[in-house]
Amino acid sequence: MTTSGTTQRYVDIPREPPEDRAVQERLHDFQEIAARFSEQEARRQASRCEQCGVPYCHVYCPLHNNIPDWLRLTAEGRFEEAYRLAESTNNLPEICGRICPQDRLCEAKWACTLEQAGHGTVTIGAVEQFLGDLAFEKGWVRPRIPRAERQHHVGIVGAGPAGLAAAEELRARGYAVTLYDRHGLPGGLLRFGIPGFKLEKEAIARRARLVLDAGARFIGGFTLGRDATLAELASRHDAILLALGAYRANRPALPGAGEETLIDGLTYLLASMQEPSATLPDGVDVERLDARGRRVIVLGGGDTAMDCVRTALRQGCLGVICLYRRGELDRSGSRRELNKAQAEGVQVLWRTETESYLPHTITMIEAAAGACAVDEGGRLVVRRRNTAGHEIERRTIDTDLIISATGSQPDLPATYGAGGLITNGNGVVRVTPETGATNLPGVFAAGDLSRGPSLAVWAIRDGRAVAAGIHGYLCADTMTAPRKKLAREPLATSTAAPAE
Ligand SMILES: Cc1cc2nc3c(=O)[nH]c(=O)nc-3n(C[C@H](O)[C@H](O)[C@H](O)COP(=O)(O)OP(=O)(O)OC[C@H]3O[C@@H](n4cnc5c(N)ncnc54)[C@H](O)[C@@H]3O)c2cc1C
Ligand code: SF4
Repeated sequence: MTTSGTTQRYVDIPREPPEDRAVQERLHDFQEIAARFSEQEARRQASRCEQCGVPYCHVYCPLHNNIPDWLRLTAEGRFEEAYRLAESTNNLPEICGRICPQDRLCEAKWACTLEQAGHGTVTIGAVEQFLGDLAFEKGWVRPRIPRAERQHHVGIVGAGPAGLAAAEELRARGYAVTLYDRHGLPGGLLRFGIPGFKLEKEAIARRARLVLDAGARFIGGFTLGRDATLAELASRHDAILLALGAYRANRPALPGAGEETLIDGLTYLLASMQEPSATLPDGVDVERLDARGRRVIVLGGGDTAMDCVRTALRQGCLGVICLYRRGELDRSGSRRELNKAQAEGVQVLWRTETESYLPHTITMIEAAAGACAVDEGGRLVVRRRNTAGHEIERRTIDTDLIISATGSQPDLPATYGAGGLITNGNGVVRVTPETGATNLPGVFAAGDLSRGPSLAVWAIRDGRAVAAGIHGYLCADTMTAPRKKLAREPLATSTAAPAE
C-alpha cells in the first residue's frame, strides 16, 4: 500500500527522469545537462516505489541507503525527514544522485522490481539529488561539530570522497583531523577530474566546506613522498589514512606514438578544467591539450572515455571518434553515459584496436607572411574485428590528438615515501576490508588506493568504514598504551592553503 492509499501507482505514472537540456544548447557550455525535480515531480516519481518487502535497490547501493524509506517520505512531502534518512548513510547524497551510474547499481534491472517488470525503474538517483540540493537551500545541512573533543589527531592524505567522508565521520566522533592534499582545494577527482557537465564544482565545494566548518583542517600543496615520508607524517599523528586515489595511467602500446602524441585521459581532463595550472605538473602545455579545431581520437570505452569525448565536443573539436577494443555489450561503463555521448554526436567504433601511429612528415606550409607552420597531425592505423575475433577491416584515421582513456592504477608506495606498505603488486594497497587497516600499525587506506579505480560511492563507503576502523584502533590504543607521541601539530608546508 502506498502513502496515497493506492498501490501500483507505477502503472499510471510513467518513469519520468528530469529532462536533459537540448544537445545543441548543452554543447556550448560545461554546465550540468540534467534539470532538477520540482517538489511536485519528486513526490510524484517517488510515489512510484512499490515498497517491496525485500528491497534489492538497498542491497545494490554500495552504501545500503534506506531507499524505499526516503522515497516514501518524499512521496508524502516530508522532505526534511527524507533528507535526514538519506544523509544518515551517505556523506554526499546529492553528489551520488548526480554521478552514480545508477543503471548498474540501485536502478539496475536486478535491483529495482519495477524495472524487472518492464515499468521502468524508480528515479532513485534524481530523488536523492533533489533531497540533497533542497536540504542546502533550506539550511538543513549543518557541519557535524562534535559535542566533546578527543585527544587523538588523525592525519588524512588525499581529500577526495574517501578522505572527506572519513574526515567528516572522524570529526563527528571528536577526533582532531588534518586533511593533506597536493592540490590547493579539497575534492579529489570530483573537483579536478569529473567534468562540470556531470557535476558542477559548487556541489563538491559546499560539501568540503562543511567538513572544514566542523573543525577539520586542510593543508593544500602538500605532496606525500615529496614534502614528507609516511614515517615522518605518522610521527605527527596518532593514525594516518591514505586516500590517494589511482593516478598512474595505463598506457597502451602504440608504435610510432611518443608521450607528446598519446595523451592520457586524466591529464587531458585536468587541462580542460578552469584552473589547470593548479593541478597539472609544471611544463605541461595546456594549449596543446585543447581539442578546439582538432580531429580527436579517444581510446577506451569506459566512463572516463565518455567524459573525454564529451569534453572534446564542448571544446569545439572538428570531430571525435571513440575506439573500443571490445563490443558494445562488453563494456563495463554506464549505458546512460554512452547514450548521452552518442546523442551529442560521438561516433564509437566497436571491436577496434590500434596498430600504429604514422606521424605526417613534418611539412612546411607557407603562410601569407612567408612564415612556416608545422602540420602536427598523423594517421592512426586501426584494425576492426568481428564478434568471432577475426579481422574484418584495416584502415587509417587522420587525427591531431589521441587521448588514451584505458584505465589507471594507484602509484607505487615508494613514490609516496611509504616503503613497507604491502600492495597487490600493482599499487593497490592491501587492507583488512572491514577496517581499512594496512600491514603498518596505525596506517589505514581507503578509496581507489585500496580497491583500484572505482566509483565515488565506493570511496564514500570506504571512507565511512575506515573511520570506524580508526576509531576502533584509537580506542584500543587509549586503553592499552600510554600516549607516546608529543608532537601533535600537523606537518606545516610552505604552501598551506585554505579550502577556498
Ligand atoms: C574522468 C573520471 C570520471 C569519473 N566519473 C565518475 C562518475 O561519473 N561516477 C563515479 O561514481 N565515479 C566516477 N569516477 C571515479 C571516482 O571519481 C573515483 O572512484 C573517486 O574519486 C575515488 O575517490 P578517492 O577519494 O579514493 O580518490 P580521489 O578522488 O582520486 O582523491 C585522491 C586525492 O589524493 C590526492 N593525492 C594523490 N596523491 C597524493 C600525494 N602523494 N600527496 C598528497 N595528496 C595526494 C589527490 O590530489 C586527490 O585529491 C571518475 C573518475 C575519473 C577519472
Ligand atoms: S548512493 Fe548511488 S547507488 Fe546508492 S541510492 Fe544513491 S544513487 Fe543509488
